[in-house]
Amino acid sequence: MSEPSAPPLIERLLAANRRYVAASPGLPDSPVPSERLVIVTCMDVRIDPLPLLGLRLGSAHVLRNAGARVTDDVIRSLVISQQVLGTEAVLLLPHTGCGMLGLDPGSLQPRPGVSKGDLPPLEVHPMHDLQTSLAQDLETLRESPWISPHVQIYGLILDIGTGSLIAPLTS
Ligand SMILES: [Zn+2]
Repeated sequence: MSEPSAPPLIERLLAANRRYVAASPGLPDSPVPSERLVIVTCMDVRIDPLPLLGLRLGSAHVLRNAGARVTDDVIRSLVISQQVLGTEAVLLLPHTGCGMLGLDPGSLQPRPGVSKGDLPPLEVHPMHDLQTSLAQDLETLRESPWISPHVQIYGLILDIGTGSLIAPLTS
């Protein structure tokens, strides 16, 4: 199948950026999130976290990773968000249909020629059940000595099919 070759990705990105700058979209006045909120969600391309919560640019910090897990780096960013930029609430927002559910960490391979014995650790945070992993992550936040007890901590599950939010089961 012959198709005219598209410009390389980086050229398309740079061209799009020139259009963005020309449109002068403007930025929020302040780097402080107006809702004093941090959202931790998955990197899944189907999630647009601000509009599904009625928020917009400037409303909240958004931290994303595979599975919306509370990793050491999420804790790092939360501490800075709270102590430097004044956020007071965290919403953990994992989702149904997540590619992390059932992922076998052993299926992840280093580049060719590298033996597994030489690898630095890779914390994959595998997930088998959304309710369980969300409960674990909420507990991790509540127990973290870096997170103030005054910070409000919430967890909801996003139904990726409808965009609706589901309260997790409470034990
Ligand atoms: Zn996901």
